[in-house]
Amino acid sequence: MKSGSRKKGSKKRGGATACQVDTPAVKSGRGSRLTLVCHEEYKRKNGQPNEMLRLLSPCYCTYSVDDGEARMVIAGTRLELECILPFGEFALQKPLPDGDDKSKPFRIGESEKQGLGMFATRLIRAGELIIAERPTVLASKKVSPEPSFNDAALAALSDGARASFMALADSCSPELSHPLLGRIAINSFDSGPMTDDEDTLVEFAATYITLSRANHDCVGNANYQWLKTRWCGQFFAKRDIPAGEEITVSYTFALTQADRHAAMKERYSCECLCKTCSDATPEDVRRSDQQRKMVAHVRDALQSALYSSLCPTVSEESLQRVLEHAQEEGMMISYATIAFLASRMLTKREGPVVALKWLKVARQAYVTTLGKEAWEVSQVDKHGWFLTTVLRSRGAVYSWP
Ligand SMILES: [Zn+2]
Repeated sequence: MKSGSRKKGSKKRGGATACQVDTPAVKSGRGSRLTLVCHEEYKRKNGQPNEMLRLLSPCYCTYSVDDGEARMVIAGTRLELECILPFGEFALQKPLPDGDDKSKPFRIGESEKQGLGMFATRLIRAGELIIAERPTVLASKKVSPEPSFNDAALAALSDGARASFMALADSCSPELSHPLLGRIAINSFDSGPMTDDEDTLVEFAATYITLSRANHDCVGNANYQWLKTRWCGQFFAKRDIPAGEEITVSYTFALTQADRHAAMKERYSCECLCKTCSDATPEDVRRSDQQRKMVAHVRDALQSALYSSLCPTVSEESLQRVLEHAQEEGMMISYATIAFLASRMLTKREGPVVALKWLKVARQAYVTTLGKEAWEVSQVDKHGWFLTTVLRSRGAVYSWP
């Protein structure tokens, strides 16, 4: 079934209710369209419609552009979809941040041990946006396991999108025997929040035709980021990636190698075959586990200090060493977070000049890892403007960023 065959307006068909929303054409002349389909009529109790059941009923929505081909299906409960779709309509009208597809710096090819993977076709610089892509399937954690619902949601995709989705690896888990759920389980990235509303912190699992091809490495060279303002997933290079190198992300952020391997086994039913683990000696593993634990400990301690009247006495030299460990372990979000929290701690202790120095480190790291549109960058900027205003009021010349 193609969404393009549906007529505008509300219509009932086979127990499903469809209503279509046309969104205004965007600058490029392309109009996005979201179609919401409630899978089951909500049940009536004593002749009265049951509102709770209506909101919890399985629901999916398709997204198509001007050609009418449904290139995305969004599945969850009616309540979840009603919460996120008004924001999604707005986000999907915005073009992807990377514009033209042709300049992509990677190819999909056979990896040594992990099936298909992504490979750099030229030098990709640290902080570069490698790819931005809309998900093909966005599924809530509460997606219905009912086979007839999942059949309908999968059938709602256009033939091309469905064929590409079905080409992704399927989970071998017997509980996830449906082709839709099996593919979501091992190819999706946890994505969210879906809206700007802090009360609606709904997280979805996003599965992509290209992004989902990236293999795991315990120290991946790229970072996945969900961009809620455009409803797309992105990979940013965490460091320079030479031509020919495989582009990898970390599927798990567990601190020790043993915990990461256990997580890989539990979710993906496979051993970790990553290059970092293959190359590491037992001594490397011990050192890496220790460094990661220390980075996490300092990050968490700085975080709790924000809400306490006690000011931690950690020196700038120690903080610098922790940042080096974070960089070595590829923990670039922790790196940025530590620099940001250090700046806030040092505002009280050392004053705005030192705080501003650390804030610049944080901003640079956030932009490199998450992109300049990330929410974290806007938070850093608020503090940057505050500190520069304080300094300017004292007659000093400072600008931000
Ligand atoms: Zn590994």
